[in-house]
Amino acid sequence: MAFEKFNEGSQGNFPPREMVKGNWKCADCGKEITELPFEPSPDRPIYCRDCWGKKRTQKFGR
Ligand SMILES: [Zn+2]
Repeated sequence: MAFEKFNEGSQGNFPPREMVKGNWKCADCGKEITELPFEPSPDRPIYCRDCWGKKRTQKFGR
């Protein structure tokens, strides 16, 4: 099984996400952001977790 290798040693837990530390501002509410779960691209607006959630629900909800 291909999935067996994937789960090896992790006991069903997801591997910890790498947090990128820095100093950004949310493009929406202006809140300070000190870490992100992904590498931010300089030509894209960065949103805090709250605004991310909002945007996501906006996108999927009608
Ligand atoms: Zn925000």
